[in-house]
Amino acid sequence: RAKRDHRGQDLQYSEQMGAEARSRALLLSELREAIENRELFLVYQPQINLATNGLVGIEALLRWRTEDGRFVPPDKFIPVAEHSGLIVALGQWVLMAACATMRELLDAGAAPQRIAVNVSTVQLQDPGFLEMVCDALASSGLRGDHLELEITESVAALPTELLKSTLSAMRAKGVSIAIDDFGTGYSSLSYLEQLPLDRIKIDRSFVRQLSEPDGARIAEMVVQLGRKLGLSVLAEGIEDAAVCKALLAMDCHEGQGYHIARPMDKKALVTWLQTYCPNAKAESPAQTAAP
Ligand code: C2E
Ligand code: MG
Ligand code: MG
Ligand code: MG
Repeated sequence: RAKRDHRGQDLQYSEQMGAEARSRALLLSELREAIENRELFLVYQPQINLATNGLVGIEALLRWRTEDGRFVPPDKFIPVAEHSGLIVALGQWVLMAACATMRELLDAGAAPQRIAVNVSTVQLQDPGFLEMVCDALASSGLRGDHLELEITESVAALPTELLKSTLSAMRAKGVSIAIDDFGTGYSSLSYLEQLPLDRIKIDRSFVRQLSEPDGARIAEMVVQLGRKLGLSVLAEGIEDAAVCKALLAMDCHEGQGYHIARPMDKKALVTWLQTYCPNAKAESPAQTAAP
């Protein structure tokens, strides 16, 4: 009897897997079509120095708005793009578009120090990756230090030598490297210590907890970990002024989040850049429109 129950469970399980695989395949074909129909675009979220409120960077984030006006979140379609390998072409488009925007901002005299672009572990494995990044820089006439690549702790799954040489080659060009969602992955500290990195981005799950007493302790440990590794530390998901203050007190000097500015399309970004005033920022909460 026990055996039969178990088999029943297995069958149910595999049916579920079938449904999941089917919906993934459907989403993938919709995504391919969406790319052709130009339904994908980038939004940009400012990153500031928490001590001076000065702008330091902008992060490019991918958006998919379907023909009928629905937004498909990147957390849903990026994994599908990764699983199929489509992320290599899509990620190239993202980098090109982000670099082109940075070029425009530089030409307009309104650029931050750097633009940060999310890079999937799948892209890093691609043999054409380095050349792709160099092409994107060259075709937009950017210096390496105008660009930051955000990678996640899942890079720990890659062969260490390949990863080290790829990241070192990027850094030799002046490109900086940040570990995104720091503290949520499973990479060992000794592994991270071996990598040529510039910055860690504290995941917003820790930043959110800052308003709670025990949460602050954990967040502080994560910040200190980054500092001890000799890296610059940026907090993501800052939603109020109190969190800003708490982060500064724990030696975290950079941040981004709804309190500072929401991700904005290019037009809104340009307006934001023109009107942003670091000195006024300390007093008034951010008043930016949702994208
Ligand atoms: P991420 O790189 O960690 O990006 C931060 C996410 O937090 C973004 O979500 C952003 O909109 C959101 N966020 C920013 N400030 C706040 C805040 O104050 N509160 C809250 N609750 N959320 C905030 P988004 O745009 O939905 O992106 C989700 C993830 O999808 C990104 O996380 C990144 O891992 C991935 N992603 C987005 N664009 C790309 C891309 O072009 N390539 C790749 N490979 N991944 C991307
Ligand atoms: Mg990111
Ligand atoms: Mg992040
Ligand atoms: Mg995150």
